[in-house]
Amino acid sequence: IIEVNQLKKVFGQLEVLKSISFNVNSSEVVAVIGPSGSGKSTMLRSLVHLEEANGGSVKVGDRYLVKDGVYSSSQQIKEITSRMGMVFQHFNLFPHLTVKGNLELSPKLVKGMSSVDVSKMSLELLDKVGLSDKADVYPSSLSGGQKQRVAIARALMMNPEILLFDEPTSALDPELTGEVLQVMKRLAEERITMIVVTHEMGFAREVADRVLFMADGEIIESGAPEQIFGNPRHERTRAFLTRVL
Ligand code: ATP
Ligand code: MG
Repeated sequence: IIEVNQLKKVFGQLEVLKSISFNVNSSEVVAVIGPSGSGKSTMLRSLVHLEEANGGSVKVGDRYLVKDGVYSSSQQIKEITSRMGMVFQHFNLFPHLTVKGNLELSPKLVKGMSSVDVSKMSLELLDKVGLSDKADVYPSSLSGGQKQRVAIARALMMNPEILLFDEPTSALDPELTGEVLQVMKRLAEERITMIVVTHEMGFAREVADRVLFMADGEIIESGAPEQIFGNPRHERTRAFLTRVL
């Protein structure tokens, strides 16, 4: 469903993405691991046009977001990126809107959905992430884990074909990560296509169908979790895993 080919990104002199190529199949859960500064966020952000690539291609379904470094029209970009939902490390909720307001904003604004429909959908999704009782409170009164579950529900409001997560639990206290990982695990079981940048090796091992190991702007190794964690082929993967496990 996503094909990334020779994707390149530079910041000034720094080659942050050197020539990234990978595919994600429909219903697949791909975990991206690697040291800090290896380009994981930049890669993810490039997929939804929060960063503009300097070369290479990103194809979603049968449409190119960017082909050989040339971007599609802004209308096309909008259509393509609206098929993906992104969940950030720092939640990025709107503080002046209630939980329900946060969920309802985009579908109303972008999709022109009716108030009745978004209201119904937002309550269903809050129930799904275990926050039915929080519909009318403001984000400031929520714990980090609850905020992140709201952010996930908000992303789901747009019916994305693909969900992207950038270290969704790394801003959370350890005792709050479990509830967020649990929600993500449930989404994986529903066969939603997901790309998850994570430091949670347990999650990558248990939930991902495939693991990509990135270092220095390159994908060093990619494989099934059993292979990456049990029998890494590259010295760098091995060194990284020794440090984090
Ligand atoms: P972490 O695990 O710490 O989140 P990461 O793998 O997500 O790291 P990126 O955030 O993608 O890494 O950053 C990769 C490199 O690009 C880093 O060296 C970073 O300093 C640099 N970089 C990222 N964004 C910018 C920017 N807007 N301007 C300049 N350099 C940037
Ligand atoms: Mg990052």
